[in-house]
Amino acid sequence: MENTSCSTALFKDRDLTAALDAISAVGFPQVELNVREPHVYGADAEEERRLQALFAGHTVNARTMHAPSGRSILGALDEEWRRESVGILAPYVRLAGSLGLTEVVIHPIPSAALVPDAADPTLRRRMEEGIRRSLDALLPTIEETGVRVTLENLPYPDYPLNNMGDLRAVIEPYPSASVGLILDFGHAGRVGRDPVDELRAAGERLCGTHMHDIDSRDGLVDHHSPALDYFDWSAIRRTFAEIGYHGPWTMEVSKTSRGESLEELAGEVSEWLAGWLEHAA
Ligand SMILES: [Zn+2]
Repeated sequence: MENTSCSTALFKDRDLTAALDAISAVGFPQVELNVREPHVYGADAEEERRLQALFAGHTVNARTMHAPSGRSILGALDEEWRRESVGILAPYVRLAGSLGLTEVVIHPIPSAALVPDAADPTLRRRMEEGIRRSLDALLPTIEETGVRVTLENLPYPDYPLNNMGDLRAVIEPYPSASVGLILDFGHAGRVGRDPVDELRAAGERLCGTHMHDIDSRDGLVDHHSPALDYFDWSAIRRTFAEIGYHGPWTMEVSKTSRGESLEELAGEVSEWLAGWLEHAA
């Protein structure tokens, strides 16, 4: 279980210490710190000191961070929005550096709610330009802190840049040590993409995982336990070996399926992951 990790989003019903207690109780050595309340309250110096002390006193390590999302994205569609996003995101990259994290997950594209017209023919070019300009603005902070930024595929069907192939093309010119990709399995499922194809498309630029399942074969509800087994997890495991993945195995499950408690869900997910990793060895 040494390279496994669990998103703190699973226990957003309690404070960060209680969330870390629950995650370590089922055997995870690392977490992805989701920076939403009630776990993280900003990226200022006071919050940095609080988080440093909190992790120093806990057996669970902070491995990665999920940056704020919503309007705080890389592919903002105008300059004012882009500056606002970078202004919010850069302090979180610095916070991640001060906590010794390896990656910060950032959403590359706006949600469908922020971009009403998916068919706008200029959308792809404007998003790509926004992502590049934002990455250029963040690069000095990325290089100074040694924290890699990873771009995640998002679950908006019919939108450009919602998949690994499109995102890889945009990040190709950036150094691998600074910019990478993270595959979110449920999001891939929701836009009708096979995670196996997505893994191959990401290839050696894949640096992170958000592992969870969808609620049925053509499911639209994600963040369920992989024990539901709608994805072909054996084929997925073989493909990870094929592309030579070395990043963390991060569970991003947050929805119960059968009336179980969050503690029971965490236990099930941890057990499933141990079995899946062992089976593949
Ligand atoms: Zn995700």
